[in-house]
Amino acid sequence: MAIKSIKDLAIREKRVFIRTDFNVPMDKKGNITDTTRIEAAIPTIRHAIEHNARVIIASHFGRPDGERKMEYSMEPVAAKLAELMDIEVIFFEDCIGMGTQQMVRDLKPGQVLVLENLRFYPGEGDNDGAFAKDLAKLCDIYINDAFGVSHRKNASVHALPLLMETKGMGFLMEKEITELGKLLHFKRGDGFTAILGGAKVSDKIGIIRSLLDSVDALIIGGAMAYTFLAAKGIKLGSSLVEKDKVSVALEVIKGAEARKVKLLLPVDHLAATGIDATETKVFGNDDFADNYLGFDIGPKTIKLYADEVAKAKTIFWNGPMGVFEKDIFAKGSIALAHAVGEATAFTVTGGGDSVSMMNKAGVADKIGHISTGGGASLEFIRDKTLPGVEALKG
Ligand code: AMP
Repeated sequence: MAIKSIKDLAIREKRVFIRTDFNVPMDKKGNITDTTRIEAAIPTIRHAIEHNARVIIASHFGRPDGERKMEYSMEPVAAKLAELMDIEVIFFEDCIGMGTQQMVRDLKPGQVLVLENLRFYPGEGDNDGAFAKDLAKLCDIYINDAFGVSHRKNASVHALPLLMETKGMGFLMEKEITELGKLLHFKRGDGFTAILGGAKVSDKIGIIRSLLDSVDALIIGGAMAYTFLAAKGIKLGSSLVEKDKVSVALEVIKGAEARKVKLLLPVDHLAATGIDATETKVFGNDDFADNYLGFDIGPKTIKLYADEVAKAKTIFWNGPMGVFEKDIFAKGSIALAHAVGEATAFTVTGGGDSVSMMNKAGVADKIGHISTGGGASLEFIRDKTLPGVEALKG
């Protein structure tokens, strides 16, 4: 069953509830330090206003753990939305109950109301039916434009849309599903390469297993590569190894062999004696000093990975090649970002780390699609759908 887009729904004068992901970063003084997530939802909100809907916006913000903690209030986010859109935005101090229902009744066509943090109620995280029913009282039409949280079975992205007859996706959600959807149907030989990096094998094993069925090449970097190398009997000094995941890594290595997937692991490493060290050394896989730890891929690995990337037709990248937050260990990630930027392949990346990596390398405009969801994009590719996407069907 196809999911309807907001542009296919008769929203005029209707109470349109838009679930957005306004979980923005904020500094200690309460200033919003990055407005990307707010801006990403504006086309949907603007469409609803232009079609004279009564617009109700709800989101979570931070982790108030089901309690009313005012440092997680949506009020400054509502003010930022008003500033960015140059419109009046009404804020209300609750998201369910009689007071909220009255605010919605008073809302005129074309007006925008932002509700208080959904996570002030434990029912949101618990996907609670009663909480979802309270939210359903506020709306005629439900729109999900919060891709980044749609892998979570939260009430506002799962139980609520299941209760709603008229529902659909916003423009951001539609773009994510369309672009990430391009990666779901590859067969071996189609030229699909995945690059996975980051800290832990345990976080990525689900997607690695699923990608083995469709990729031609799988490039592994970051700390998780050390667990794969350990599985091959390669010891890299004091580098981080998830001992309880060595057998899982071995299973992936064998799985790749059996499926004729080219699995690329680092052949050299940029290492130091500690994360705050100012001096680095390059080691291969067979001469790694005992008191050193790997923090980035080395120059030979960069070349090997860049050559592979140049051959790909489609690339999916999640997770850095090293501790890219520190300039001294960011070379590998940045060099690979350049290689990906220069490649002719259609490239998709996802998550906060990937966005800042691409920005650091200055290649963001050369990437086919930068997903707003980290965990959500991984789970979408692994499962070919998400709970919040399924709930919009039928
Ligand atoms: P993830 O959230 O799983 O994508 O992991 C991202 C994190 O992995 C970043 O904060 C990196 O600093 C970290 N990381 C990548 N490579 C290494 C490494 N060799 N040693 C320690 N941390 C690493």
